[in-house]
Amino acid sequence: MSDIKKVTVLGTGVLGSQIAYQSAYSGFAVTAYDISDEILDKARERFAGLAATYKAEVPGAADGKADEGLQRVSYSADLAEAVGDADIVIEAIPEVLSLKQETYEKLAALAPAKTIFATNSSTLLPSDMKDFTGRPDRFLALHFANRVWQFNTGEVMGTESTDPKVFDTVVEFAGEIGMVPIPIHKEKAGYVLNSLLVPFLNAALDLAAGGYAEPKDVDNVWRIGTGAPVGPFQIYDIVGLNTPYNILSHGGPEEQKLAAWLKENYLDKGKLGIASGEGFYNYGN
Ligand code: NAD
Repeated sequence: MSDIKKVTVLGTGVLGSQIAYQSAYSGFAVTAYDISDEILDKARERFAGLAATYKAEVPGAADGKADEGLQRVSYSADLAEAVGDADIVIEAIPEVLSLKQETYEKLAALAPAKTIFATNSSTLLPSDMKDFTGRPDRFLALHFANRVWQFNTGEVMGTESTDPKVFDTVVEFAGEIGMVPIPIHKEKAGYVLNSLLVPFLNAALDLAAGGYAEPKDVDNVWRIGTGAPVGPFQIYDIVGLNTPYNILSHGGPEEQKLAAWLKENYLDKGKLGIASGEGFYNYGN
């Protein structure tokens, strides 16, 4: 067992609410922090919605466990109060480096020396933030995937300054909240999942945009040839086409060509993936 008992999560948006609720569901006392009481009112609704989803989707959750999880969450818009006795603070605030750096500067002064800080950032490296934490040895990344109760990886990635004991504690804690902990030994943008997924999805897009094969046939080859349940274009439709478009349009000339193709043939026609009813495939109603 790790020695973590009290968990504070900063940010109650898409991922912060899931991380906080999953931790509470797993038995931890959780404080959910956000910047205003109005946002915390919305967060209460979000957490209730998560409890309902768990009851429907997580075996055993409907037998009282989902509601007990809700009882273990307290809410605060006062940062000093929220982190005053935390064993770990998991930061899930917007993906804006300056905002994260400012937040760690404040945290450094408010949290006790024992507190571990973990960022859930998807695209920034913990090194970009460590000098603002006041405790680089107790700071690392713990990265979750959207729908934490279902896609339950916990990618743990430190910097050169992270104390190995702190790293091991967070690996253990990730397991205690129901994640499959994935230790990453050196800093890597994209962690494991996106380091594999992004080049794979780009290669698929290149085949379709270059006129080599239809998206459905690329998917067919991948499914038949590897036994995978879904192909790359099915994954695009699940993720939604806006995110890959945004990433590609900030890339080099080859990526920008793919972005332009995606825009002309899909985004401009309102084909954004499953959420819009059509992407590379049509989902009817
Ligand atoms: P979001 O926009 O849904 O939520 C951000 C929350 O942070 C909001 O509730 C906002 O009020 C709050 N916030 C803003 N400023 C704050 C501050 N100074 N202190 C505390 N809270 C503040 O964002 P999200 O999608 O949950 O992403 C949060 C982090 O998680 C990002 O770093 C992102 O890269 C990462 N992440 C997101 C996903 C995803 O699929 N959405 C997956 C993995 C990791």
